[in-house]
Amino acid sequence: MSIGLTIPENLLPVDGRFGAGPSKVRPEQVQALVEARSDLLGTSHRQAPVKNLVRDIQEGLKTFFNAPADYEVVLGVGGSTAFWDIATFGLVRNKAQHLSFGEFGSKFASATNNAPFLAESSIIKSEPGTRPVPVAEAGVDVYAWPQNETSTGVAAPVHRVEGADEDSLIVIDATSAAGGLDVDVSQADVYYFAPQKNFASDGGLWIALFSPAAIARAEEIAASDRWIPDFLNLKTAIDNSRLNQTYNTPSLSTLVSLNAQVQWLNTNGGLEFATARTNDSASRLYEWAEASSFASPYVSAPEDRSNVIATIDFDDSIDAAAVAKTLRANGVVDVEPYRKLGRNQLRVATFVAIEPEDISALIKCIEYVLANS
Ligand SMILES: *Cc1c(COP(=O)(O)O)cnc(C)c1O
Repeated sequence: MSIGLTIPENLLPVDGRFGAGPSKVRPEQVQALVEARSDLLGTSHRQAPVKNLVRDIQEGLKTFFNAPADYEVVLGVGGSTAFWDIATFGLVRNKAQHLSFGEFGSKFASATNNAPFLAESSIIKSEPGTRPVPVAEAGVDVYAWPQNETSTGVAAPVHRVEGADEDSLIVIDATSAAGGLDVDVSQADVYYFAPQKNFASDGGLWIALFSPAAIARAEEIAASDRWIPDFLNLKTAIDNSRLNQTYNTPSLSTLVSLNAQVQWLNTNGGLEFATARTNDSASRLYEWAEASSFASPYVSAPEDRSNVIATIDFDDSIDAAAVAKTLRANGVVDVEPYRKLGRNQLRVATFVAIEPEDISALIKCIEYVLANS
């Protein structure tokens, strides 16, 4: 296959970014940054302009998720990966149960499992491309799983675990799901994510919707004699968030472009708008793959296929890595599969910022590359 192949201009998407994060930033978000130059960028995060911005994000997210009135939006620096350690220190009382069906779910599982002050975690695994279900277990006080396993493109529903201990918590990694997949957040106690996926901003921040039960758990553990590093102290994050601040300095540009995306989503119809759009985009890819003789959706159970990350397997007659390389040389980027999955596959983000018409253009580009190489 010739990597030197030039895809005709008229086939190319308007925006060629299809990566799983950092992902496409809408031009309007960049414009919001330009406008923030006059009074916001380069100013103190302890003063009104930035605190008001944080408050707008917190309120905008509660509106977007239609969150119960007593849920709180907590945020801090460090991204979702930092939140795994924060939750290990500050949310798990004694024992967690994890669903592990890909890279991200397994990382949080090993964080709690390796914590010397916690009991061994209960880890329920399934093959990549499938998903396990949580099982009520006496003594488990946190049930955790990703709503979207970004490494494989498997989506898992968010729900309470029937028969679980009365005060156990549901803690959902919604890093790549939030803003693009449907959810009833009242089914979770902690719904956490980062801004560089559906929110189309930059990384480095974690954001979480907390139920009153989750706040109470954080306070209970903070009052116990467990040693917790200051940077990973959840109670400190909650206290700062109530003042529309973070414990240490956040990236202001990340906040500005995140807020622009939340406002855009809410103006256009909120979660319903977002989920219809990602469903449209993902369906274009899955239907194309199913109809083709050389490609197929990697996730075999249609109900487990994600609407925000579509993974498409190719026949041995096609070298998916070479297709991705040719696309990249033409400005259509980041459709390589998750590196550790090691499949002959393309992985395409269908986050809400991405235009469904650009997904159709991507499909045309793939077909062009295959036909001309
Ligand atoms: C991207 C991703 C993460 C990691 O997020 P960071 O902000 O880079 O720490 C965690 N979980 C899932 C499901 C993700 O998609």
